[in-house]
Amino acid sequence: MQSLMIHRNDTVKVLTGSDRGKTGRVLRVNPDDRTVLVEHVRVVKKTVSSKRGQRTKGGIAEQESPINVSNVVLVCPNCGNARVGHKTEGDSRLRICKKCGQELPKKK
Ligand SMILES: [Zn+2]
Repeated sequence: MQSLMIHRNDTVKVLTGSDRGKTGRVLRVNPDDRTVLVEHVRVVKKTVSSKRGQRTKGGIAEQESPINVSNVVLVCPNCGNARVGHKTEGDSRLRICKKCGQELPKKK
């Protein structure tokens, strides 16, 4: 399986759609279908219906929907630049910002 360049908790910028230009934090990565969930991006409103016999109130919940990784780019948290490259060091592939040289380690 090819690993994705984008990891959870990364900051990404959206390239397409109505949320184009927005940046957000990656909430979840789905390597199998190459999609990510980005906070406050592609938010859909879901109607939550109250179940009969329960006291919970129905209403509208907002939920992010997955966006293809090719539609987002990684943003450097240091300088805000969106051009990120790779550097191989030993066995590990590091992500670096092409502008300021900042390493972009995988956050936990
Ligand atoms: Zn940078």
